[in-house]
Amino acid sequence: MFIPYGKHYIDDDDINAVVTALKEDYIATGPGIERFERAFAAYTGARYAVALSSGTAALHACSYAIGIQDGDEVITTPMTFVSTASSVMMCGGKPVFADIDENTYNIDPNEIEQRITPHTKAIIPVHFTGQPCDMEKIYGIARKHGLNVIEDAAHAHGADYHGSRIGACKYSDLTAFSFHPVKLMTTCEGGMVTTNDEALYQKIRLFRAYCSTKDPELLKDQTDGPWHYEVQGLGYNYRLSDVMCALGNSQLHKLERFVAKRRAVAQRYNDELKDVRGILLPYQAEGCNSSWHLYTIQIKDGRRREVYEKMRESGIGVDVHYLPVYRHPYFLENGYENVSCPKAEKLYDSILSIPIYYGLTEKQQEYVIETIGSILKTS
Ligand SMILES: *Cc1c(COP(=O)(O)O)cnc(C)c1O
Repeated sequence: MFIPYGKHYIDDDDINAVVTALKEDYIATGPGIERFERAFAAYTGARYAVALSSGTAALHACSYAIGIQDGDEVITTPMTFVSTASSVMMCGGKPVFADIDENTYNIDPNEIEQRITPHTKAIIPVHFTGQPCDMEKIYGIARKHGLNVIEDAAHAHGADYHGSRIGACKYSDLTAFSFHPVKLMTTCEGGMVTTNDEALYQKIRLFRAYCSTKDPELLKDQTDGPWHYEVQGLGYNYRLSDVMCALGNSQLHKLERFVAKRRAVAQRYNDELKDVRGILLPYQAEGCNSSWHLYTIQIKDGRRREVYEKMRESGIGVDVHYLPVYRHPYFLENGYENVSCPKAEKLYDSILSIPIYYGLTEKQQEYVIETIGSILKTS
């Protein structure tokens, strides 16, 4: 038996939805894409949604849409997956890392403000583990300095912040999601951007499909024939297929259930691990309801490696999220060798993600709890 830290959940409804979509006339670009987009927009409360081929593509499209280019600086957290920062570089921009809050592990708004320069164009907060960032403060800073805000919500489908759902873009211009199997819902690979801004929405739709358009209202040459289409920028093929959108729609119907189960798993960990010595449980900020993409604990007394190895030997797939982004060789070799965010470094030395997902059984969770307890009891 192996219990991973995260796992997708596929049922017969999902399989039937995919089989049905495969029998349709259009399997790449078809009506299922807009169906999924409309349903996802409605779920989050945003006006618009655009499906893309991955969370990375979604983030790249966001940087493109707000016009990031050579020399522009974008402030983000080091405690994230690489795409949050690399998507900025794909547009020629420069990620600038601001340290985290030691309680929530999310980007610290005070650290953001110190890093603003005349070149700063945007802020990308990441709702790490599914716990929403301090969006009111971040949005306030952004408005004061004329910056855009892109939320990286790859961990936060279904999370709530001060009464609004993440993805509603109440405190941001754009929100990017991922549907990788380890996230809260899946399309195998896939992503989504939500926004309330029609111009950004249109830009992302173009960018996703070669920056090519046939829309009579957008054409620059109005004199050619009815076959005429135009490429108006440097675009990509970042579309999510109709078949995968059918899977996404089916998964979306279960998202509330997925998130509710993760919250119950988290609650049980909170209750049953609270007396284990040598660990620190995750803190929840007021007014926030996490989606619990990850359940992370800190292992004190320099015992993280030991706990990691013994859990793995016991068949429990614990993992470490994340190496601060600037410490990856590509970043070290490209100007980040002197960057240091001490709180993120310190967290990286002790953090461990333990299993949390919809299909985790009570017995499996009990085994995880017992295993942690027995390792930390022995010294
Ligand atoms: C997974 C993830 C991404 C990238 O999503 P993909 O769909 O794998 O491209 C971006 N940011 C964060 C925080 C993630 O966890």
